[in-house]
Amino acid sequence: MEWDGVSSLDRVEEHRDDFAWIARQWAAGGSVVLPVGPGGRFPVTSGGKRLDFRAATGELDPATVHLLGLSAGRAVFCTAAEEEPSGVTANVREAGHLLPADECDIAFAATALTNWHRHEPHCSACGAATEPRRAGLMRHCPECGRSSWPRTDPAVIVAVTNADDEILLAHQHTWAPGRVSVLAGFVETGESLEQALHREIFEEAGIRLADLQYVASQPWPFPRSLMLGFRARATTTDLVFDQEELAWGDWYSRDRVREEVGAGRLFLPMASSLANLLVRDWWGEDAPPV
Ligand SMILES: [Zn+2]
Repeated sequence: MEWDGVSSLDRVEEHRDDFAWIARQWAAGGSVVLPVGPGGRFPVTSGGKRLDFRAATGELDPATVHLLGLSAGRAVFCTAAEEEPSGVTANVREAGHLLPADECDIAFAATALTNWHRHEPHCSACGAATEPRRAGLMRHCPECGRSSWPRTDPAVIVAVTNADDEILLAHQHTWAPGRVSVLAGFVETGESLEQALHREIFEEAGIRLADLQYVASQPWPFPRSLMLGFRARATTTDLVFDQEELAWGDWYSRDRVREEVGAGRLFLPMASSLANLLVRDWWGEDAPPV
């Protein structure tokens, strides 16, 4: 999935306050719903390469069903299912790189939106139960009138290279043995993306950076991040890891990555992730499979 083009999902801003229009879309033949379970899983077919939509049937319930938009000429809705959907399921980590681009847009949007409705059903000002509005893009408090929208938390992720063009890869305590990634962290309030990068990489690895270059971004709804990917050059070399977060890490040449991945000792970031894109961006042509 490439994230640098126009989304295939038309979010129909102009129709979102028109319930009659939305109800007509629901009733039109071909409209579909993607249920997303509490763990972010949705039904898939074809070995995870296609979404397994449900047909839109019965009355539209705006309290539980949300309009994602129009895609491929039909209306696509989502709903936060109380249990994980039955049958074969996947989440966007597993299927993000397998789905066609239009269904990938739908899967990420449905995951993020249902997660928000599921976890923030109350007003942050008065605590009353809120109701979806604008076909699910916001919630409204009937008690105090406050409106709320889904939040997106920016996080920075960076491929840091040294003077020998080796990349910094590290392993977190909670990961499976051998799994490594480039470093990442959340942007704090009142901080620019660049300041966050300088701070995070010094905190986590003791490295100072220069030549920050933006590469790409990707939604990452676990639960509500927007990953902003950079490349940067290290101006220091000694790695001092924050042991609470990172268990180990090192500078890796392409030959060393190829050898250790081939031997099954090293596992690169998942193909669906921006971290993987950043590693491939550093690698260039003929990047190894993950
Ligand atoms: Zn309220």
